[in-house]
Amino acid sequence: MAAANEMTSGEFPEAVMPSCETREVLVGQKALVTGASSGIGRAVALALARAGADVVINYSSSPEAAEEVAAEIRGLGRRVLAHQADVSQEDQVHAMFQRMFTEFGTIDILVNNAGLQKDAPFDEMTLADWQLVLNVNLTGQFLCAREAVREFKRRGVVREVSCAAGKIISMSSVHEVIPWAGHVNYAASKGGVMMMTKSIAQEVAPYRIRVNSIAPGAIRTPINKDAWSTPEALKELYKLIPYRRIGEPDEIGRAAVWLASDASDYVNGITLFVDGGMTLYPGFETGG
Ligand code: NAD
Repeated sequence: MAAANEMTSGEFPEAVMPSCETREVLVGQKALVTGASSGIGRAVALALARAGADVVINYSSSPEAAEEVAAEIRGLGRRVLAHQADVSQEDQVHAMFQRMFTEFGTIDILVNNAGLQKDAPFDEMTLADWQLVLNVNLTGQFLCAREAVREFKRRGVVREVSCAAGKIISMSSVHEVIPWAGHVNYAASKGGVMMMTKSIAQEVAPYRIRVNSIAPGAIRTPINKDAWSTPEALKELYKLIPYRRIGEPDEIGRAAVWLASDASDYVNGITLFVDGGMTLYPGFETGG
C-alpha cells in the first residue's frame, strides 16, 4: 500500500489520469456494501465480486441470508466477510470499519445501500416512524461515508489499484426528486441523500475521492413486493414506467460496478437514474 497521503487542503495529488488505463474490473479492490443480505445490496455485492473485488457484507438481522451471499462470493474466489451492524449506530459502524481494516487492510469502495420504509399517511406518521427512516437511510449513510472518507484521505491514491483514492456510491431513489405521498419520511431521506452525496463529492473531490448516487426506479426486491407480486399491481406499476417493465437487482449491480471502476473516473457528484424512464413524467406520454 502507498504511504499515507500527506496532502493538505489546497494541494492536489499528482495527476494520474493520463497514465492510468481504464479498468473495467475491480481486481484487488476492497468493497463494503451495507444491507447486502437481500435485494439490491445482495446483487451489488455479487456484481462487485464478479468484477474482482473482495467484499464485506453488512447485514442487520439475517445472518443466514448474509452467509448465503458470502458463500456465493467465496465461490467466485474472492475474500468475503459478513458483519452484523446497524448502520444508524455510530459505535457499530466504527467497529465494522475497524474490523474491515484489520482483515482487509483498507477500503476502496463503499456502497451505502441499507435502507427501509415505514409508511403512513402524513398526519398519522409518528415521530418514531420519521426518525427510524431518517436514522437508517440518511444518518446511516453519513456515518459510513465519514468512516470511508477518513480512510481514503489517510491512504490516498494507490495507482496500482485505482485512479481514485476511493469511491462512494449512495443508494438513493427516484424519490430524491419525485415527491411521494404516504412516504414523506422516505422521500425526505432520499432528498437528503442526494444533497449529502453532492456536498461530500464537492468537498472531497480534490483528494481524488468520487462520490455518486444511484437512483433506482422500481426494482424487484422485498422492499416493494406489494407493487409487483400480482398481475394487477404490475399493470398499475407499468403506468409509471415508460419502458414498461420492472427492473432487476442485477441491473443496479452493473451500474454500481461502472461507478466504482476507473471507467467512470471523471464522473463525480452525479445521480445515475436506473429507472426505465420513471423520472420522465410518464403522465405526459400522450402529450399531456
Ligand atoms: P431490501 O429490503 O431487500 O434491502 C434493504 C436492506 O437494508 C435489507 O437487507 C435490510 O436488512 C437492510 N437494513 C435495513 N435497516 C438496516 C440497518 N439499520 N442497518 C443495516 N442494514 C439495514 O430492499 P432493496 O430494494 O434492496 O433496498 C436497497 C436500497 O435500495 C434501499 O436504500 C432502498 O431505499 C433503495 N431503493 C430500492 C428501490 C426498489 O425498487 N427496490 C427503489 C429505489 C431505491
